[in-house]
Amino acid sequence: MKIDLNILGRQFDMYQSEYEEAALRVLRSGWYILGPEVEAFEKEYAAYIGSNFCIGVASGLDALTLSLRALGIGAGDEVIVPSNTYIATVLAITENGATPVFVEPDEFYCIDANKVEDAITKRTKAIMVVHLYGQAAAMDRIKEISLKYALHIVEDCAQSHGACFENKMTGTFGIAGCFSFYPTKNLGAFGDAGAVVTNNEEFANKIRMLRNYGSRVKYHNEIEGINSRLDELQAALLRVKLRHLTDLICERVKIAKKYLTEISNEKIKLPATRMGTNHVYHQFVIRTKERDKFKSYLHDKGIDTIIHYPIPPHLADCFKKVGWNTTSFPTAECYANEVLSLPMFNGMKCKEINYVVECCNQYR
Ligand SMILES: *Cc1c(COP(=O)(O)O)cnc(C)c1O
Repeated sequence: MKIDLNILGRQFDMYQSEYEEAALRVLRSGWYILGPEVEAFEKEYAAYIGSNFCIGVASGLDALTLSLRALGIGAGDEVIVPSNTYIATVLAITENGATPVFVEPDEFYCIDANKVEDAITKRTKAIMVVHLYGQAAAMDRIKEISLKYALHIVEDCAQSHGACFENKMTGTFGIAGCFSFYPTKNLGAFGDAGAVVTNNEEFANKIRMLRNYGSRVKYHNEIEGINSRLDELQAALLRVKLRHLTDLICERVKIAKKYLTEISNEKIKLPATRMGTNHVYHQFVIRTKERDKFKSYLHDKGIDTIIHYPIPPHLADCFKKVGWNTTSFPTAECYANEVLSLPMFNGMKCKEINYVVECCNQYR
């Protein structure tokens, strides 16, 4: 059997007529950027998250970058960030001229809250938390630390739409919750899209200006902004998917439950769930010491897998010039060598899930 890592067409098929109706509505409306669909989506997504404001932007990276910019974080400032994240989190810091300070992850792949305090200096301005793979970081402890040291919390929620910590949605713990709607994310658009959620009106207004050339009123440019606008087509399609997001997450959780109860192989370490959180399984990430061998075994069986992520940010080629590659983050480096994401997508068929389980269990 051939099983791709993700078959996006399956979730298009689920709600095809609704997507087509929404797309046609926009095409025929004659209005394509920042309009009624974007406004409606912003309202609906803010309500879903339980935030006062939502500002649509062009991507998850822009949501992160503009959030730090709106906080005035730049050259000379330090931002604490996990050592095992997707590079976008780190690029948002460096793009603003600030310096990332890496903190190792815990056993749930999120920043180790117990190691954050040691990383704080006089220059620290914010803690960026990444709810990696769809599970919340230890937000109780991180909130405490942020209050004690008066630091901003900026949450990278690109993988955690709908994930909670103690029944509170990720994205609502600090000044900014940054979301990506890249097509493969749990709430994915049909192109690039992102959003910032916040409860702070002044911050919301600042993001709103930054995303549109720094203006509130056309051609009145109050601050130096960029072009990072959400378009009407993506907003209309996201509104459709948002209506079904709870069901889509439920389906992922069901697939994960099956993997968790049926995969049994002492060579494979299954993902654990933190107390007080609901994992939304953006990725189902296992770990094994024989990762590359296991990956190619699955490949030979027709099962596609991927590594999230093979190179931790401090070792990325683009950062060689700043010399972070001379520092070691052993936990992040160990995860990079051992993690593997199994197929996990909406519309995955029972026989496909069973086949993945079977192949995992037969691995010797
Ligand atoms: C996808 C992702 C991003 C970036 O989102 P884009 O929309 O691709 O810019 C940032 N952080 C994490 C953790 C992600 O998974």
